[in-house]
Order: sequence, then structure tokens, then C-alpha cells
Amino acid sequence: MYTIKVTTTGPEVLFDITGQIVKLIHSNNIESGAVLIYCPHTTAGLTINEGADPDVCHDILAHLQIMVPNSAYFHHVEGNSDAHIKASLLGSSVLVIVKHGQLQLGTWQRIFLGEFDGPRTRTLWVSFLS
Ligand code: ZN
Repeated sequence: MYTIKVTTTGPEVLFDITGQIVKLIHSNNIESGAVLIYCPHTTAGLTINEGADPDVCHDILAHLQIMVPNSAYFHHVEGNSDAHIKASLLGSSVLVIVKHGQLQLGTWQRIFLGEFDGPRTRTLWVSFLS
């Protein structure tokens, strides 16, 4: 298992980690199989979506804020239940096929860490499956 560190840049961001995963594939000479990326945090998650137009990430974050506003009726005393819920909506892992040393993503797809309680330095666990 490998780890990568991601320092997010704001309270809520979709941070593109695709380049870091590609570097790990190349530095380990991975030719084929799959890569599992796992986020061991409760207020951050992982997703795959469009990376070509940054407005897509903006709109995803804006809509998550509308869907899950921070509310006084939450019980969790830390006060960040909205961040926990958004992380659950994204999920904790993504699995991507690797073929001929390349991530098999669609033309417009990128892999994003969804930060919902930042900025922070996050650790991701990466495992290559053959
Ligand atoms: Zn909390």
C-alpha cells in the first residue's frame, strides 16, 4: 500500500489528484490491473467527474451546499455534520482500471478528493490490484 498527501486549499474544494495517481503508476511500473484509492477521513471523500470545465466542480460543490446546509438541529457537537454527510454522499473510495500503464478514465474524467472541512493535509491510501 502507498500513501499520498494532499493539502487542500479551502474549506470545501474538489481537489484533482489524478496527476499524483499517474505518477505513482509510473514510478511503480504498473502495466495493468486496477488502482484502488481510499480516503480514510470522515469529512472528505473521493469522486470521479469532469475536470475539463472547472465550472462543473463549482456547481457540484454549490449544489452539495444547497442539499446539505449546516444546520443548528444537527446533534454532533463538533459542528461539522454537513461535512460528514457530504463525505458520505461522495464515498470513501474509487477503483480505476489501469491498462498499458495508463489510467482508464473517460475523456473528461479526473479523480477528485472532495474536501468538506478544510483546508487540511489529507492522506490517501493507494493499492494496486492485479
Ligand atoms: Zn465531526
